Amino acid sequence: EGNIVKLEFEALPENQGFARSVVSAYCVSLDPTLEELTEIKTAVSEAVSNAIIHGYERKGTGQIEMELKTMDKDKVYIKITDYGKGIRDIKKAREPMFSTEESREMSGMGFTVMESFVDKVFVESEPDKGTAVTLIK
Ligand code: ATP
Ligand code: MG
Repeated sequence: EGNIVKLEFEALPENQGFARSVVSAYCVSLDPTLEELTEIKTAVSEAVSNAIIHGYERKGTGQIEMELKTMDKDKVYIKITDYGKGIRDIKKAREPMFSTEESREMSGMGFTVMESFVDKVFVESEPDKGTAVTLIK
C-alpha cells in the first residue's frame, strides 16, 4: 500500500467534476487504459453524486472525503465518505433500479454502474451517521 492522498470537499455539485479530475490525475501514474480511466471516473462520479444528492439531500453543505491509495502495485483503492443521512437498507439500495428519489431523472442505477465499472464495491453505512463507499480497480 502506498501513495496515500486524502481530499476533503464541500457537498456541492461542481465538486463532482473536481473529484473526477483528482482521481484521473492520481491514476495516470498507474498507467491505465483510457477505457479503465473513464470507468474509474464514472464510478467515482456516481458515489460522489450520491453523497451530494442523498447523503446531504442537495443542501450544499456537509463534507465529503475521498481517500486514494495504491495496492498491489497497480490497483487503486478509492474511499468516498459522507456524514449525511445514511442508508437504511444497503442490500436494497444496491439493487438495480432501486431509488428513494421520486424524480424521473434518478434511475436507481448508480450502484449498478459502480459495480460494473470497478472490481469491487464495498458499502458501509449507518442511518444518520453517514456512508462510506469503497471502490477497488
Ligand atoms: P441514479 O444514481 O441512477 O441517478 P440513485 O442515486 O437513486 O439514482 P443509486 O445510486 O443506485 O441510485 O442509489 C440507490 C439508493 O441508495 C438511492 O436512491 C439512495 O436512497 C441510497 N443512497 C446511495 N448513496 C447514498 C448516500 N451516500 N447516502 C444516503 N443514501 C444513499
Ligand atoms: Mg446515484
